[in-house]
Amino acid sequence: MREVNIARYPVDLHVHTTVSDGTLTPTQVIELAVAEGIRVIGITDHDTIDGIVEALAAGNRLGVEVVPAVELDIKDEGEKDFVELHLLGYGVDYTAPALITVLDQVVQARIEQKVAQIEMLQRDGIDVPVEEVFALARGVPGRPHIAQVVMTRSPGRFPNKEVLFREYLAPGGKAYIPRRFSLRLAEAVDLVVQAGGVPVLAHPGAYPDVRDPEAMVRRARDEAGIQGLEVAYTYDKNRPHYGASSRQVTALIAKFAALADHLGLLKTGGSDFHGMGKKIALGEQGLSWEEWVNLKAQMNQISTRTSC
Ligand code: AMP
Ligand code: FE
Ligand code: FE
Ligand code: ZN
Repeated sequence: MREVNIARYPVDLHVHTTVSDGTLTPTQVIELAVAEGIRVIGITDHDTIDGIVEALAAGNRLGVEVVPAVELDIKDEGEKDFVELHLLGYGVDYTAPALITVLDQVVQARIEQKVAQIEMLQRDGIDVPVEEVFALARGVPGRPHIAQVVMTRSPGRFPNKEVLFREYLAPGGKAYIPRRFSLRLAEAVDLVVQAGGVPVLAHPGAYPDVRDPEAMVRRARDEAGIQGLEVAYTYDKNRPHYGASSRQVTALIAKFAALADHLGLLKTGGSDFHGMGKKIALGEQGLSWEEWVNLKAQMNQISTRTSC
């Protein structure tokens, strides 16, 4: 029998590369997209747009449409139920000076935070050299890089990464500290809009500490101005619905699609592919071609409106 390699979704708008915590370079991501028959890729690295130029070049060469984007970590506003939120900015002008300047500040604060976290782990006798974490990260460092070095250096100390996060790296953990600088949701939305992009709240059902996701999304629209919602997402591969059945995932996606329609928000979707780091395939979630054509037309309308 012939092996047919057909991607489930031809459009995957949530993908990480080596410039943040993915394990494939932007070029390798595009090559994989070609191999899997995926036609549109959104590059959404954490707090950086450093992978976009390379991805666009590879996309041009290999015939994959690349949507320049970023996934911003948002400052908590607990009273609004905005806790550990992520904002996606689609179609941002990755040469916009204001965007570049703010992202530089965010990344600098992130680096300081990670160094401090590593030092707290070291004080507890955990073998985790700063240089090794930064060598692994290459680009923007994240907690998954720290976790990987700890797991490799001290096999057996933690049964798995989840436990390491719970004891040390997650909020409330012994090596958790907030970042000196990050954007509040409304500020991040403004930054994306100023850079000509469309602000979309990422994976609304994947915030373990948000009490009421539906009310939170409404507030994010009314008080911060988000224009879209990431509806399709690999909920079964991420907290807090890790291991959910495909029926449960479908139900979550349907719930947030209805919410987006009700609130007049654009609907996006993607896999949150990180390469080998997470067990998620490129194109495992995303949009159908028809959904993409609709979304693209709506996004273009928004950008024309803001630039006039
Ligand atoms: P950072 O960018 O340093 O804030 O790290 C965020 C990343 O850490 C997320 O994208 C997840 O991949 C991972 N992460 C956060 N919390 C946990 C957790 N409790 N267990 C496993 N991974 C987590
Ligand atoms: Fe990540
Ligand atoms: Fe995210
Ligand atoms: Zn992501």
